[in-house]
Amino acid sequence: MEFTIEELKVFGQCPLKYKYGYMNDYKYRKSREQEYADSIRSVSTWFFDNVRTGSIPTKREIRKKWGSIWHKGKDVYDILFDTSYKYERRRNIKGVEKIDKFYDRFTKTPGTILINNYPFDVPIGNGHILKGRFDIIREVEKNNSTRIELLNLRTDKYVPYSRLRERDLLLTIHDYAYRKTFEQIPDQLAYYAFKNDTRAVIDPMRPKHFKKLETMVNNIASIIDQGLFFPRFDEEHKICRHCDYTTVCAGRR
Ligand code: SF4
Repeated sequence: MEFTIEELKVFGQCPLKYKYGYMNDYKYRKSREQEYADSIRSVSTWFFDNVRTGSIPTKREIRKKWGSIWHKGKDVYDILFDTSYKYERRRNIKGVEKIDKFYDRFTKTPGTILINNYPFDVPIGNGHILKGRFDIIREVEKNNSTRIELLNLRTDKYVPYSRLRERDLLLTIHDYAYRKTFEQIPDQLAYYAFKNDTRAVIDPMRPKHFKKLETMVNNIASIIDQGLFFPRFDEEHKICRHCDYTTVCAGRR
């Protein structure tokens, strides 16, 4: 069976949601929040592409890039007076703030970019395939030595607490895929969260984390094989409230 990182995340949120999204093929419209995250990601990919070729853009250029991606198809009048979404104007301002902070941080310490937004496709568990993309693989300097860093760029709202970083699912997947693809161990893992301009560095994962990941993929595949798509029990109903399938879902709370 083949899984993308997104599919694993959705299954973790609610197996029934996975079924609606990936097996029943109900098409859903991308939320504005998702478009916002995708726009930020596109700007960061563009930025690191420039860094890789040795031409760091100016702040004015990166702001212009952000504007051209996020406000695509709108004119100035629309942008100023768009009230179609409650949070639209807040997002406009927050987006520039986030891009500015990202720019200030990574122009100071861009490192040497080896890989930017590169796909991977690796075997896992009992004959399954895991697909995704490396955000950034770069060389950074530490204590007069050069280290290979897998940098995960986070555009979502979730920022792992310090205690959870060492077993973070995304970092585990990136580390696992790097070892399978390049047959070497990275020197360090890191994530950058746009939400609060945080960068955290952790040591590479340990074998027990990969074992856990493999077990999780095997279990998910087995649940899918048996067709056991139970709705996620969520006392606060938060998952259901923000789910795209509330209108069709029998398990909705
Ligand atoms: S509405 Fe709730 S139970 Fe139904 S698919 Fe969405 S998250 Fe799962």
